[in-house]
Amino acid sequence: MSENLKKPNPVSRRSFLKTSVAKGAAGVAVAAVGLHPKEAEAANSITWHRSADVVVVGAGVSGLACACAARDTGASVIMIEENFDIGGRGIMSGGSIQLGGGHSLQKKYGTVDSADMIFADWTRHDHPASRYSDRDIVRKFADENAATFEFLLAHGVQFTGREQAGGGASTNAGRTYQTVEWHIPSQVIAPNRGRNGSGLVRRLEESARKSGVEILLKHSMTSIIRENPKSGRVLGITVRSNGNTINVQARKGVYVGTGGNSGNVNFRRTFDPRLTEEYQQACAPYARQSGDAELMSMAIGAALWATALQTSESGAAITKTAHIGCQWGYGSLVFETDSPIFHLARATGLTVANWQDVIMVNQVGKRFWSETDGSYKFIAAAMAYNGDPDKLNGGGPIWAIFDSDAVARERWNPKPPNVDPLYFASGATLKELAANINNPYQKRPMPGTVLQETVERYNSFVTSGTDTDFKKPKPMYKIEKPPFYAAWATPILHDSLTGLRVNTDQQVIDIHGQVIPGLYCGGESMGGLAQHGLGRDLVSGRIAGLHAGKSKSIKV
Ligand SMILES: Cc1cc2nc3c(=O)[nH]c(=O)nc-3n(C[C@H](O)[C@H](O)[C@H](O)COP(=O)(O)OP(=O)(O)OC[C@H]3O[C@@H](n4cnc5c(N)ncnc54)[C@H](O)[C@@H]3O)c2cc1C
Repeated sequence: MSENLKKPNPVSRRSFLKTSVAKGAAGVAVAAVGLHPKEAEAANSITWHRSADVVVVGAGVSGLACACAARDTGASVIMIEENFDIGGRGIMSGGSIQLGGGHSLQKKYGTVDSADMIFADWTRHDHPASRYSDRDIVRKFADENAATFEFLLAHGVQFTGREQAGGGASTNAGRTYQTVEWHIPSQVIAPNRGRNGSGLVRRLEESARKSGVEILLKHSMTSIIRENPKSGRVLGITVRSNGNTINVQARKGVYVGTGGNSGNVNFRRTFDPRLTEEYQQACAPYARQSGDAELMSMAIGAALWATALQTSESGAAITKTAHIGCQWGYGSLVFETDSPIFHLARATGLTVANWQDVIMVNQVGKRFWSETDGSYKFIAAAMAYNGDPDKLNGGGPIWAIFDSDAVARERWNPKPPNVDPLYFASGATLKELAANINNPYQKRPMPGTVLQETVERYNSFVTSGTDTDFKKPKPMYKIEKPPFYAAWATPILHDSLTGLRVNTDQQVIDIHGQVIPGLYCGGESMGGLAQHGLGRDLVSGRIAGLHAGKSKSIKV
């Protein structure tokens, strides 16, 4: 796995021709291909080691939908996935899919819905999740909702039948349906935790493989090959696997669905400069939200779109942690010791039942907001400048501080594998606790005297019953009984809500507003519509697969 997470080195055309291995290669020569102008002039052929009508990058939610849809049109499909298994973030998701428009399950449960109702919801001016959307994209999304749901049924996806309220800007009481969790726990990645999205991606994988889609695991896209650097058709991609670089030709189109960019520190700071390296990404030990689709498409001229959606502070772009003392403590995601990637996650975390049991302090040992709040006001305070002159952006690590009475009340066992020693500390005194915090993101030691003053002041609020600093409702418990503990509780990143500009067929658009022929994008790598998760990913992937599959093939 660690091998898969390494960023592949860029490889020049010269070196990949030299090092190429034609395993099962199609060996097709295409005229006028080049990676930069000089090579375009000089070279008139390229060796294609693999070839298919549609090449799908990323075997996650949108990629699997794209592959199945493209195959439905009769196109041949190769999927490229850098991980050791399929599923991306989707396999760790709750599987609650927001899809409506009057599909068969809605009819069965008597839910009134239509494409027009979806369009009306997701273009609302009075909701930040819809206000900044591209209405052309929303219209097509709304029109394709019901058909996408039927497509899932046709590809074997099973639903629990329960209706849930639609989230975000949705006003419909019954627009979310949950998939049945995959039945083999060892293939679930975060088993025994209601990861119903595993049923979605495993069923789509099953259907894709059965219909002849070839999935190349441990293969990572490293660049997109276009006829000329910023013009002409996209012809294929370069892929790195096991130390080799191969060229994969796409006769009809390349789909890039690499899952968004929240895991790419440099890229995500385009949207919000505060998002420095200490903010972890919810799924990082399994799927890295690499930003690869965005970056590699931008390198050949693609544009970003509707970027306001990322910072509208309405969705789950960044959230409070629910599990503390581990590196990744996102709300619904816990890696138990039987997870196949537990060696990467390293700890399950301590789940906080009552935020009255802890106080939260920043890198310099000061409280910054009410611990019982989880809104974007809390997040903004956590990311505020903490006074460190060497770190002006980002708020630095946030620590939950508590004592042994809190441990008893919460029934925690503050030891590995529940906590990760790098993200957890203890001490007989508060000063000792501060000195014991030894974490890669804690750039300078927490001053013990400041932490002690913070706790004493908070304890005085418990006595008086009023938090005059941050208005925590009726502070309940003093922090006074050793040992004392500090557990990592830094806000954690989740959704990428914007990305590449696409048209209503999911074709990628360049910075001049022109289609880049042969390049498609969807899922969390696309911009235009900030609906959380699976509904948007599935609709966009399916639209792209159908369009690419039916499009004209390049002459070879
Ligand atoms: C804990 C959790 C719970 C969630 N629950 C829900 C829910 O209940 N409902 C909901 O609607 N949404 C939910 N989501 C969100 C949902 O899972 C995502 O929106 C969805 O998975 C995104 O789909 P995608 O295709 O864009 O990316 P992904 O599904 O993440 O797939 C991207 C794939 O691309 C691969 N990749 C990346 N770079 C490369 C490269 N260079 N070469 C080859 N492959 C590459 C990745 O390894 C990955 O497999 C949840 C997410 C999480 C993390």
